[in-house]
Amino acid sequence: MKKDDLFEKIVAGEIPANILYQDEYVTAFEDINPQAPVHVLIVPNRNIPTLNAAEAEDEALLGKLFLAAKKLAGELSIAEDGYRIIVNCNENGGQDVFHLHMHLLGGKRLGRMLPNI
Ligand code: AMP
Repeated sequence: MKKDDLFEKIVAGEIPANILYQDEYVTAFEDINPQAPVHVLIVPNRNIPTLNAAEAEDEALLGKLFLAAKKLAGELSIAEDGYRIIVNCNENGGQDVFHLHMHLLGGKRLGRMLPNI
C-alpha cells in the first residue's frame, strides 16, 4: 500500500487506529509511534497531500484542524500545561505520510523546538 493512502484508509475505518475524534471534516487518532505521552494526529478527511497543496477554499478546513486540536488538548488535559502543534512538509520538513496532518504533542515538557539550534 502506498503511504499516501494510509490516513485515508484510517479515516474510512479500513485500517485500525485509536480514533479520538471524527466529524465530517476531520479525524484525530493516536500516533502509532508516540513521541510524547500525548501524541495525536489530526487530519482532514479529504486528502490534501502537503500544506503546499492547500488552496484558499481549504481555509475553513485548515481552521477546523486547529479547533479539533484545541478541543482534544482540553479533553486530554494538556491544555493548561501546554502542548505543541507540528506540521511537517516534504523532505526537509521530515514528512513521511503525504496526507496533511497536524501532530498534537504534550504531556511533558517538550524542550527546545528543534535540537541543536
Ligand atoms: P510525518 O513524519 O509528519 O509524516 O508523520 C507521520 C506520522 O504518522 C508518524 O509520527 C508515524 O508514527 C505516524 N503513523 C504512521 N503510520 C501510522 C498508523 N498506522 N497509525 C497511526 N500513526 C501512524
